[in-house]
Amino acid sequence: MAKAKGYSDPKMEEKLKDRYYYREYSNPDFTKKVHDLARTVNHMCFQCGTCTGSCPSAPRSSYRIRLFMRRNVMGLEDESLTDPDLWLCTTCYCCTDRCPRDIAPTDVIMAMRNIAYQRGIVPVNFLKTVQAIYQSGHGVPNNDVNRAVRVRLGLAKDPPTTHSYPEFLPGIRQIIDHWHVKEKADKIVAEAEKHG
Ligand code: SF4
Ligand code: SF4
Repeated sequence: MAKAKGYSDPKMEEKLKDRYYYREYSNPDFTKKVHDLARTVNHMCFQCGTCTGSCPSAPRSSYRIRLFMRRNVMGLEDESLTDPDLWLCTTCYCCTDRCPRDIAPTDVIMAMRNIAYQRGIVPVNFLKTVQAIYQSGHGVPNNDVNRAVRVRLGLAKDPPTTHSYPEFLPGIRQIIDHWHVKEKADKIVAEAEKHG
C-alpha cells in the first residue's frame, strides 16, 4: 500500500486503499469478472486516452473505449452492458498495441460482451448474424447481385466456403448448437420482434 506522501487529508490513506474508486452503485465483482475473463490488468488504466485516439470506431461514432475502461474500473456493470456502443468495437487491437500501461482494452470489451451475452443483452442485429451463420455458414450470405459481380470479375459465382461445400454446414451447426447460441438468439429475436 503506497503512502500518501505530501497530503494532509487524513482520509487520503483510506482513499488510496480503494484503488477501484467504487461507488454505492458499483459492482466490484464486475471489475474482477472482466479481469478474469480478459486476463489483462484492467484496473491499471490511468485514463490517458491513447486507446480512444487509436480507435477507428471513435471518429465515426459515439463509441469511446476509454469510457468503457473507466466504467470497468469503477464496477459500473449495468451502465457498461446496456450501452449499445459496447458492440461498436471492431476488435482491430490498435488500442491494445498502443496502451502505455500494457492493458488490452480489446479483451476488456470482449469480456464485457461475453457477460452481456450471458445476461441476454445483445443487439438484435448481432443475433440475426448468428441465425444467418446457422442457416448458410455466412454472417453475410452471398446473393445474386454479388454473384453477378463475381462472374464479371472472372471468379466462381460462389466463394470456396459453405456456399460451395454445403457438406460442412452440419459441422458449423454442431458447434453453434453445442453452446446453445442459436437457441438463445432465436428466443431474444422473437421476443424483440413481439415488442416491435
Ligand atoms: S490507453 Fe491504456 S491506460 Fe490509456 S486510457 Fe486506454 S486503457 Fe487506459
Ligand atoms: S480494438 Fe476496438 S476499441 Fe480497440 S482500437 Fe480497435 S475498434 Fe477501437
